[in-house]
Amino acid sequence: MQYVLVSSCLLGNPVRYDGRSVPNGDAVLDRWLAQGRVVAVCPEVAGGMPTPRPPAEIQPGEVAATVLAGQGRVVAVTGEDVTAQFVRGAREALAAAQARGIRVAVLKEGSPSCGSGYVYDGHFAGRRQPGLGVTAALLRGAGLQVFSEKQWGEAGDCVAALEADDGR
Ligand code: SF4
Repeated sequence: MQYVLVSSCLLGNPVRYDGRSVPNGDAVLDRWLAQGRVVAVCPEVAGGMPTPRPPAEIQPGEVAATVLAGQGRVVAVTGEDVTAQFVRGAREALAAAQARGIRVAVLKEGSPSCGSGYVYDGHFAGRRQPGLGVTAALLRGAGLQVFSEKQWGEAGDCVAALEADDGR
């Protein structure tokens, strides 16, 4: 069975920076939960950050890839450099995926860790820009298919296709 990595906050766990969750009901997720194939991960908690915690953004002009390469930083609104925690959390998420041979992840859109379509521009002004979070980038670089919570259907199709291939 293909396991799937899912952002913990999407499962109703109160692990977000603001101490809340963003539960996200969907028939695909419900089916996966019933099948026991969901592996929850919160990279920021896994990286050693407390909940609640100050919001953080990838610095202006930097992207997840430069953060992972040691050339960019993730900084909290307080000014604290939290790059090390973000990178550690990304590695923990990848290790959790690799431990179960996971090839598909559904992660919370917009997060500096989990975003897969957009992140915020580093000015804490609520401005989005296309890009990846640090964990999403590391997972994609390792060959995982990363979807957001707006793409449960696509993720479900991807898992089904992988299982069909495995069964051949
Ligand atoms: Fe959710 Fe990812 Fe943020 Fe954790 S790091 S609270 S899983 S979006």
